Amino acid sequence: MDTMLAGRFHLDSKKFAVEEVPVPVPGPGEILIEVKAAGVCLSDVQLLDGSLVPLFAISDTVTVGHEVAGVIHTLGPDLKRGLTVGTRVTLEAGKTCGQCAGCVRSRPCTQMRTAGIDYDGGWAQYTVAREDTLIPIPDNLPFDQAAIIPDAVSTPYAAVVTTAGVRPAQSVGVWGVGGVGAHNVRLARLVGAAPIIAVDPLPSARERALAFGADFAFDPAADDFADQVRAATAGRGLDFAFDCAGVPAVREQAAAALGLGGSLILVGISPRP
Ligand SMILES: [Zn+2]
Ligand SMILES: [Zn+2]
Repeated sequence: MDTMLAGRFHLDSKKFAVEEVPVPVPGPGEILIEVKAAGVCLSDVQLLDGSLVPLFAISDTVTVGHEVAGVIHTLGPDLKRGLTVGTRVTLEAGKTCGQCAGCVRSRPCTQMRTAGIDYDGGWAQYTVAREDTLIPIPDNLPFDQAAIIPDAVSTPYAAVVTTAGVRPAQSVGVWGVGGVGAHNVRLARLVGAAPIIAVDPLPSARERALAFGADFAFDPAADDFADQVRAATAGRGLDFAFDCAGVPAVREQAAAALGLGGSLILVGISPRP
């Protein structure tokens, strides 16, 4: 086990290729993971098409992938948590920098490093992770479902529960019900939002949003879109609009659908201002 296959993106030439590279060796406080599943995020696509530029890259080539689950394969030195080889884990999508003003004050890190963008991620047979970024998962949780929790589930969870603080009976609109947005719908349902309006140009995405618990699913291109939102909210407009698409046109339409005191929550990353 000296080499492995990895999906490598070359930041200078903007070329992506599956290459044979050395299996990484875990340093102090790190653990080598045998990857069992890895997700494809829209930000991966934006990295590969050149519209998302890494802020903290330490090399001109990076192994892509920040949605990863696998099994602990090899323990590095100086570990503190007592994690053992063979443990099934999912990996946080990034890690704190340990040096910024937030980190030294035990406040949220202001310069988070993202796996697969700033440092090597999990589109590979093996990946190295800092031990504090590993989360053991139960045996009955499949790897492919566990892999997406640290991004496609936790991102909308933070948006719904922390950023917005949605309360029961507050109205919610979710623009872009793909991987992140579909979970945004489900989480809004779990915290008691009502009504929940999913907005997406794709009929298949609207269908899935309804299956995930949305009360309504509207086409943003419909001529009477604003009237549909008004009717669904008894004329009041939305308490919260979530942009899970990261698209300027969505933000304009979503902001216009807000009621008095409503908030627009920007969830999807966007390369544009
Ligand atoms: Zn992502
Ligand atoms: Zn920091």
